[in-house]
Amino acid sequence: MTEIDYAEVVIIGSGFGGLAAAKQLGKSGIDHTLISATPEHLFQPLLYQVATGVMDPHEIAPPIANVLRTNKGSTVVQGSVVDVDPDACVVTYETDAGVRRLRYGSLIAATGATQSYFGNDHFKDFTFALKTIEDATLLRDQIRDCFERAAETTDDAERRKLLNFVVVGAGATGVEVAGQIQELSQRYFHADASVYLVEGAPMVLPPYKGGKLSQYAEKSLRDSGVEVLLDAMVTAIDADGVTISINKGAATRRIAADTVVWSAGVQASGFTAVLAERTGCDTDRAGRLLINSDLTTGGYANIYAIGDMTSLKGYPGQSPVAMQQGRHAADIIRRKKLPGTEFVYWDKGSMATIKRFSAVAQLNERIQFRGFIAWLMWLAVHLFYLIGFRNRFLAVLQWGVAFIGRARPGFVHAAQAEEREEERLAG
Ligand SMILES: Cc1cc2nc3c(=O)[nH]c(=O)nc-3n(C[C@H](O)[C@H](O)[C@H](O)COP(=O)(O)OP(=O)(O)OC[C@H]3O[C@@H](n4cnc5c(N)ncnc54)[C@H](O)[C@@H]3O)c2cc1C
Repeated sequence: MTEIDYAEVVIIGSGFGGLAAAKQLGKSGIDHTLISATPEHLFQPLLYQVATGVMDPHEIAPPIANVLRTNKGSTVVQGSVVDVDPDACVVTYETDAGVRRLRYGSLIAATGATQSYFGNDHFKDFTFALKTIEDATLLRDQIRDCFERAAETTDDAERRKLLNFVVVGAGATGVEVAGQIQELSQRYFHADASVYLVEGAPMVLPPYKGGKLSQYAEKSLRDSGVEVLLDAMVTAIDADGVTISINKGAATRRIAADTVVWSAGVQASGFTAVLAERTGCDTDRAGRLLINSDLTTGGYANIYAIGDMTSLKGYPGQSPVAMQQGRHAADIIRRKKLPGTEFVYWDKGSMATIKRFSAVAQLNERIQFRGFIAWLMWLAVHLFYLIGFRNRFLAVLQWGVAFIGRARPGFVHAAQAEEREEERLAG
């Protein structure tokens, strides 16, 4: 029988949860191997800035091996974990060089979530997602392409379709994407482009329950020209656009659009189902693991699952939850906390940007901020959490260019399209 390598701790995933766990283990120099399907640590909250040309992909996605270069005890491996044997304590993962197996003392799974289409998986074929760096660059290229083609076509219907942008889901991501596409559109196509934000709930930013922050975000979006459709469910999507049922079928609307961005829901990633089955852990409707209060999975005291792949006490699918859980699991493993210690989330609040100089932030039920102050808070928090001094420096530079100077590094060609558009209108 071939010898299988051993790591005291195996972490799966290089996102917020996996990285936080690795750094915490590094404090005690505990030997750990982080296996990730992607070579980078992706800062997902800024994906929409890549999609709208504010930032370059590498600024929000440094290689995870570089990030952990000086972390004590870290080994980084690129591969996709496909199976786990919890009794033998072995994970199986696929690499470019073939299938590998690794034995562990403890396992921390942090494989995140993917888009959910609520049973309409064919929507995937006609929509743009925003989960990976490839998604963001695809969407950026699409928006750029639409601007350029719209400047060239003489067919009015075609031009309308190219300049209609539909964003489905008015959570933080949807609001941010819609706000940024609107800014881009105003810059390059003035009144001609239309951005629609479609939300099934009767409010934008549903986590704020329709309170002042939801209302402020909705008004800001409408004032900037985004058409906000609430109580609106997408019932069909095809290559020509979307069909929307409004007010539970009281009205139907069809929007011809080449670009539909889907940010309406999440479901646990593929590996989650494997882990659930192998450990006997139940899952919720979104396929997320219903983990134990100490973050362990099923009946296994040495298998932890954290972050977006899990559901615990209604904690939100946000990066601070994943990071705090990563540190909690690592602290139990490095004996800074007793086995079985319950995880309690310290909620420091949430925020979303709407457009330049405008954001909403909620520290708790009573302390809320809107407008410029919230926007400054958003900048500070995102700079703090961006990985690496160089990326922070570049982010400040790019934000200065995009928000104060109003240029978009990712939309140089669109600027040329704008010139052609001005010529078209003049002629
Ligand atoms: C567009 C967008 C905007 C967001 N904005 C915010 C925000 O403003 N504020 C906020 O708090 N949160 C925000 N979030 C949510 C936040 O990013 C997530 O809550 C957080 O990333 C969860 O961390 P995680 O470690 O659980 O998963 P992820 O960060 O998603 O990491 C999952 C990792 O697992 C790896 N992986 C997956 N499957 C396998 C496998 N089988 N084998 C090996 N590796 C695997 C992936 O490659 C990835 O490295 C946003 C998310 C998105 C998509």
